[in-house]
Amino acid sequence: MPTESFDVVVVGGGTAGTFAAATVADAGLDVVLLERKSESEAGHIACGDAIKGKSTFPDVVDREYLKSEAFTNENIQYARFENPQTGETLEIPFEETGAVVDRKRYGEVLLEEAERLGTDVRYGRVVQDVLQEDGTVVGVHSAKNGSETTYEADVVIDAAGAMSILQDAVDFSESTFDTAVNYQQYCSAYREVIEVEDPVEYEDSIVFMPTEELGYLWYFPRTERQINAGLGFQMNKPPMKLVDVLAEDVRTRSEFENAEVIDKLGAALPTRRPYDSAVAPGYAAVGDAAAHVNPATGGGIPGAAKAGHWAAEAAIEAIEDGDVSEDALWEYNRKVMTDFGKRFAAIDLYNVWAGTHSVDELTSIVTALPGQALIDALGKGAAGMSFGLQLDTLRRTFGHWRSLFGLYRVHRQAERIKDIYESYPESPDGFADWQSRRDAIYEQVYSITGADPKY
Ligand SMILES: Cc1cc2nc3c(=O)[nH]c(=O)nc-3n(C[C@H](O)[C@H](O)[C@H](O)COP(=O)(O)OP(=O)(O)OC[C@H]3O[C@@H](n4cnc5c(N)ncnc54)[C@H](O)[C@@H]3O)c2cc1C
Repeated sequence: MPTESFDVVVVGGGTAGTFAAATVADAGLDVVLLERKSESEAGHIACGDAIKGKSTFPDVVDREYLKSEAFTNENIQYARFENPQTGETLEIPFEETGAVVDRKRYGEVLLEEAERLGTDVRYGRVVQDVLQEDGTVVGVHSAKNGSETTYEADVVIDAAGAMSILQDAVDFSESTFDTAVNYQQYCSAYREVIEVEDPVEYEDSIVFMPTEELGYLWYFPRTERQINAGLGFQMNKPPMKLVDVLAEDVRTRSEFENAEVIDKLGAALPTRRPYDSAVAPGYAAVGDAAAHVNPATGGGIPGAAKAGHWAAEAAIEAIEDGDVSEDALWEYNRKVMTDFGKRFAAIDLYNVWAGTHSVDELTSIVTALPGQALIDALGKGAAGMSFGLQLDTLRRTFGHWRSLFGLYRVHRQAERIKDIYESYPESPDGFADWQSRRDAIYEQVYSITGADPKY
């Protein structure tokens, strides 16, 4: 079998992989990116395509070029929640204007940028196995049209998405790499791109509404006449017929009369806390492959971009020092956990709470809260409400106090967990102790909510 050698092999050409490869190439090291899709299909990924703006991305690629090529709606001002019980809508303004991208073009530009910076991009290459020597990952085996090639590297970056097969192939028994992963911590999702005849009136908003099975249905306007529509369900709940449920909702909305579906795609995405450790000797997992996704919204583009960048920085330093051990790559874990990791872990606790309530009850609670109170509570907590508003809120939420008290107690644990993630250890030495402090918070939340353990 032919063998090629690089400093770094990146598997997967999505957001995480392209940012990782671009960072390595920019530092002058040899990097190959292996993408299983053909060049014409690469970048085509199931996504709602909503992001905060170009500040989402590390300053490695040409962000102005990315924006000019792929940002099709740069005027997202609100998250709009539709309440199916009452027909009311609640608009929560964003502090920073958001955007919706043309996902295919966005993916193509990132691959172009990785290549421009010096990455060797190979399309149609499916990674099938991982090479490991004395516990250290040293390369991958791949196939293209029946011909196999081995790629050796000092560090392999696994950016192969939520269903990465690399993690099945690596023996992690001697490493801290998180293997407490199962499908119930994932969401099954589906999205269509729908072209409508007339401009929608929510061109400046991303629109959500709750569905059964702890999921939500969403409409994100990529332009005023092209809408990304999608939904998902948490896989610890009974399966939902995603295509049928979406079609049913689309049928009831007047803006979709005579609309045409121009693209459809499904995928799994992690709706769990980030991996406790995403490194092993010679190996780092990034993006969906390490659950770097907001477990409430499913937003994974920012986490993937940052994680790809940080893992690459750690790999560069490790290679330059001639030591690719877990210890040497550890700083990458610490950056993730003390940045978005702590926020996603806190949100995961609210998901555990929400999972013990029916969608009807959750919707009733939201319905019971006066709109402004909900915005205030989300922003500042009850302290941000006037006394009168607090009394009014108490009156309206009568019947849900037990649930709200549970939520309040979970909220206190969520605040504590952020501190624990903030003190993520600086080396693998403190890892077991850190995990037991963190696990104690989960035990508290399981006991408050009566939920089955998620991990
Ligand atoms: C329906 C849906 C809606 C979403 N909406 C949003 C949203 O609005 N905003 C947001 O921020 N996030 C959203 N997300 C999440 C976001 O799409 C992901 O978190 C993000 O794409 C993760 O990027 P990634 O690079 O880690 O993985 P991916 O984008 O999945 O890239 C993985 C790449 O690896 C390749 N690959 C896989 N296996 C192999 C192999 N064996 N060999 C070679 N190549 C391989 C794949 O072909 C793919 O190109 C959504 C996800 C879904 C499913």
